[in-house]
Amino acid sequence: QQKAKHTLLEAHEYTAKLYHYLLRNTEAGKPAMEYLRSRGFTDSLIEEFGLGYAPARWDTLTQALNRKEYVPAQMEAGGLLSRRQEGEGWVDRFRDRVMFPIEDAGGQIIAFAGRLLSDGQPKYLNSPETPLFNKSRTLYRLHQARAAMRRTRQAVLFEGYVDCIKAWSAGVHNGVATMGTALTAEHAAVLKRFADEIVLCYDGDDAGQAAAHKSIPLLEGAGFHVRVSVLPNRMDPDEFITNHGPGAFVREYIEGAVSAVKFQLIYLRKSHILLEEDGKIRYLRDAVKIVARRESPTERELLLKELAQEFGVSLDTLKQESLEVRRQEK
Ligand code: ATP
Ligand code: MN
Ligand code: MN
Ligand code: MN
Repeated sequence: QQKAKHTLLEAHEYTAKLYHYLLRNTEAGKPAMEYLRSRGFTDSLIEEFGLGYAPARWDTLTQALNRKEYVPAQMEAGGLLSRRQEGEGWVDRFRDRVMFPIEDAGGQIIAFAGRLLSDGQPKYLNSPETPLFNKSRTLYRLHQARAAMRRTRQAVLFEGYVDCIKAWSAGVHNGVATMGTALTAEHAAVLKRFADEIVLCYDGDDAGQAAAHKSIPLLEGAGFHVRVSVLPNRMDPDEFITNHGPGAFVREYIEGAVSAVKFQLIYLRKSHILLEEDGKIRYLRDAVKIVARRESPTERELLLKELAQEFGVSLDTLKQESLEVRRQEK
């Protein structure tokens, strides 16, 4: 068991080196290099993140692992090879993809994510669950980010690998990303060892905002103070940094992330038509519900004051409504 895991770790290390070499030093890797350059990856970013390229062939890794005398069935269990669909034998799992090595908290490579160079499906292919890799526990870049998390007691959460990398190059060194899956209680427990505050920096599209909305109760339940970056619609952190620069990103979206409750109020607005009287009343009622759930009386009062001002109702009325909600939800 231990021996098998050790062998798999070695194979991952070797595979990462091979993919990196193929990207950097071969003719086959040129289109992938061009792709990465077009997306703003410098040589030093490519080195630092150990990016690689899996060629558009069936047997590049299969042959290489074979030469190293790794057992193909074991490499399949580790997610590096797949069984041939027809006939005997094995083939490379990752083909024609830019490869992102994924490390565990100790910095050992335990999996890969591969991105197609062109449009096509699936855009990202990850390693499957293996004895080394558990998606609901793993956070991309945790090993490198944990020092800055400890220092700042803050962690920034991204949806995408590229977002995490570009944010790192913008100076956000406490950022990690999930594996293209939802945030879990296990992720929260891992992060709690290093940080007290989470900044959710998900994509500005509906899916990203919905994911942030769902993550708030999970994270607050784990004891985090939560803030949210609300990026412009249809932009993710990578696109924002590319278009507006690292300075604006850090100022407006990391330092300028809004409190969880402010985000919930912004999010609530999307589902109400505030131009109509009915919609306004319903929005206010739901907004007061959100505010009423806050534990701090000061926070509640400040938020209610803002709502009262904006909608031209008295603070007393909103306070009363908030107290009622609190009584009902007790
Ligand atoms: P890129 O900038 O390279 O297009 P992205 O990170 O912006 O990638 P999104 O479509 O925003 O991609 O998806 C966010 C994350 O969800 C990805 O980084 C990846 O982890 C995961 N993901 C996206 N598409 C897929 C897919 N088809 N299969 C598996 N995971 C995916
Ligand atoms: Mn190199
Ligand atoms: Mn993107
Ligand atoms: Mn995205």
